[in-house]
Amino acid sequence: MPDHAVQQKFVYDFTEGNKDLKGLLGGKGANLAEMTNLGLPVPPGFTITTEACKAYLADGETPPALRDEVSAHLDALERKMGKRLGQADDPLLVSVRSGAKFSMPGMMDTVLNIGLSDESVPGLAQQSGDERFAWDSYRRLIQMFGDTVLGMSGEVFAAALEEAKRAKGATSDVDLDAADMQRLAERFKELVREETGRDFPQDPREQMELAVRAVFDSWNGERARLYRRQERIPHDLGTAVNICSMVFGNLGPDSGTGVAFTRDPATGQQGVYGDYLQNAQGEDVVAGIRNTVQLAELERLDKTSYDELLRIMETLETHYRDLCDIEFTIERGRLWMLQTRVGKRTAAAAFRIATQLVDQGLIDEAEALRRVNGNQLAQLMFPRFDGDLGADENRRIGWGIAASPGAAVGKAVFDSYTAVKWSRSGERVILIRRETNPDDLDGMLAAEGILTSRGGKTSHAAVVARGMGKTCVCGAEELEVDTKRRCLKTPRGTEIEEGDLISIDGSTGKVYEGEVPVVPSPVVEYFEGRMHAGADDADELVQSVHRIMAYADRVRRLRVRANADNAEDAARARRFGAQGIGLCRTEHMFLGERRELVERLILAETDAEREAALKGLLPKQQGDFVELFEAMDGLPVTVRLLDPPLHEFLPDITELSVRVALAEARKDANENDLRLLQAVHRLHEQNPMLGLRGVRLGLVVPGLFTMQVRAIAQAAAERRAAGGDPRAEIMIPLVGTVQELEIVRDDAEEVIADVERQHDVELKLTLGTMIELPRAALTAGQIAESADFFSFGTNDLTQTVWAFSRDDVEASFFTAYLEKGIFGVSPFETIDKDGVGALVRGAVEAGRATRPDLKLGVCGEHGGDPDSVHFFHEVGLDYVSCSPFRIPVARLEAGRAAASDTTDRPRPD
Ligand code: PEP
Ligand code: MG
Repeated sequence: MPDHAVQQKFVYDFTEGNKDLKGLLGGKGANLAEMTNLGLPVPPGFTITTEACKAYLADGETPPALRDEVSAHLDALERKMGKRLGQADDPLLVSVRSGAKFSMPGMMDTVLNIGLSDESVPGLAQQSGDERFAWDSYRRLIQMFGDTVLGMSGEVFAAALEEAKRAKGATSDVDLDAADMQRLAERFKELVREETGRDFPQDPREQMELAVRAVFDSWNGERARLYRRQERIPHDLGTAVNICSMVFGNLGPDSGTGVAFTRDPATGQQGVYGDYLQNAQGEDVVAGIRNTVQLAELERLDKTSYDELLRIMETLETHYRDLCDIEFTIERGRLWMLQTRVGKRTAAAAFRIATQLVDQGLIDEAEALRRVNGNQLAQLMFPRFDGDLGADENRRIGWGIAASPGAAVGKAVFDSYTAVKWSRSGERVILIRRETNPDDLDGMLAAEGILTSRGGKTSHAAVVARGMGKTCVCGAEELEVDTKRRCLKTPRGTEIEEGDLISIDGSTGKVYEGEVPVVPSPVVEYFEGRMHAGADDADELVQSVHRIMAYADRVRRLRVRANADNAEDAARARRFGAQGIGLCRTEHMFLGERRELVERLILAETDAEREAALKGLLPKQQGDFVELFEAMDGLPVTVRLLDPPLHEFLPDITELSVRVALAEARKDANENDLRLLQAVHRLHEQNPMLGLRGVRLGLVVPGLFTMQVRAIAQAAAERRAAGGDPRAEIMIPLVGTVQELEIVRDDAEEVIADVERQHDVELKLTLGTMIELPRAALTAGQIAESADFFSFGTNDLTQTVWAFSRDDVEASFFTAYLEKGIFGVSPFETIDKDGVGALVRGAVEAGRATRPDLKLGVCGEHGGDPDSVHFFHEVGLDYVSCSPFRIPVARLEAGRAAASDTTDRPRPD
């Protein structure tokens, strides 16, 4: 090692870190350090860094320096606590907890009571004056260690515990006495030996080291990988490990443990929220195993600790300027903080809290924008149950805790496997469990909603569902969940069996039998203009959304347009804030009763026949455009000339062949059908996506594009004559080379000039192209010579850059690709920045180099995807265009991108 190289530091005392070191110390470690430094009562301890984990995962060995560093920190901890780890007469016990940069409920979590052994149990009994407690602590250690470190099934221990209770005729753990617990600890040790072929380690340091390694290994566990993929957390971050001196919530009625939120994570309401469990140890609350009391009860049980907790909660909220969630323990009347973090919240709470904090002067508007996101907004736009109509109280079969909002309807399933299987075959399912644990993660992902009969707002089901944005009702206690018989029994005796429809309301906690009708969300009512933020009945959520949308609109640089091809969609898009249409797909105007005209066009054998067909189509097209320009009066409307291959407008080849064959057999073959079949054969392509479509079609079917251009120009003239302000832009699809564009452009300009002459108006139509082929992107500098604007067709561009058939791959092998981590999300959903994005970036630069005033937009599906919107902001597009329903999301994300952008680019006018 060179002299100047500094030995990497792998261990930090809680007094050394701070909240900004999450990458190194993990969220838990960084926040424990922050609380320590704020002078809050945190049990002393230290954190092993994510760097140590990364080194371990790379080499399969803990880094050599780690052991000595841990020894030094352990020594210091032992000095501070005045006892040694596992010391026989007065053992120091520690917890070992994982803690990654991002909270990951799917990962191994905690081993408590490390340091206890056969030798030190009596010492703990002596010191605590409670023999039962000492043995209980020991059996808990063996159980957690067996389960999380030695890879045993938790069921084995649970069964032994049940057996012990049965032998004693006890109903609850608390009915077991010291001798029972001692026997249980012995039984657990036997189980370890039987199942793993090794003894439970008696050396406290060995216990600690094995637990640390197990935490490191858990980073690559299946559940953790699945969770990271879902949450798009990179796989190379590693986890930190926190070693913290133990405090006990199970030392009697003056002890306990709880979780608290500085605001309600479901609604954002300020107040005292949380659960408390007297005489219990940490994980009992989160596991939802025993039923908790509301935190407010603590005031009655232990006023001093309650008041101190409230003071600490205020300190934390002001310090973090956000909702915090907290885990705490009270040991014989003394309060200890075990964890805090900026808490997960529902989408509604995120919006409310952001504006509340602005009003409190804790954050500014830009920060408020960063605190919410487009996915949350999209969630708020989901419909909810119709309280008046559908949610018939007679059909209500249960009422649990409203843990994660939304309205979910689906078939009842009682295990994760079935949830995944049924949802893969297109069924909507509700996963029903007594309580969930990390093994249920993929079932929860697959389900529309989750229902549990046990556990509170902080149970596993509630926390994970909120994180996923899934509807969840938990703790519906009067419902009896029988996972073996796969049914749910209600107090009135109704039985819901697997496959029966059930509806759950995550906003009220109500559970209904059958399918309950849904109504639009108030947020959609607001966007639709049917509810005003200032109205008396506007709820706080609508007001918050309104304010945040106003911030976003004020700062965003990207304009937002809609992909819409009829007046109705255009009008809705406009209500939702669209600033024009970025893509009108004219192929939709060739369907229905007009199909016959299209068939005539395709079958035309002479110029006259073709012209007659085109002439028939012209007024219909013109009428469509008039409606569209009227709906979007004063705003730009990009009309794309016909894109799909013509055979898409003809009957299916197999059906038609059968029809013709049958008719021939009956000897009454229809002449038209025969010609049609010939045309279908002539136009048939192996790869139609790469065939005769887009500009190619325009170049080989005489009169097709010019008819469309004439319809656009005449519609614009008609609107102008009616006093309107049409702003049409004509867009050519699938251009690969500037020559294609030049030809179409020359023809189009002639037609436009003709219409202008006839109507004596100047229409100011612009002509541009889609950039959706790699060649177009690579030659964008040349193409810009003939284009007034570019619109990136990122659907086709993704298809052609990856050579992924957009119609096939998502259903065929994408699941495998996602599972293997080749990409975290489909490139058809979020723009592939490195590949497709690089072409977009290059084309933007080249296009603008040729023509500085070139207008640039995107109209592929990515235009409404939150991550992609940030990318389009960054590369400097002028607008994104997306489906009408995504417009609020795109507006918000464009605002968020601008609020986080430190470069000072001007906004387009
Ligand atoms: C595109 O390719 O991105 C696009 C918008 O066009 P279409 O989806 O109609 O091919
Ligand atoms: Mg396309």
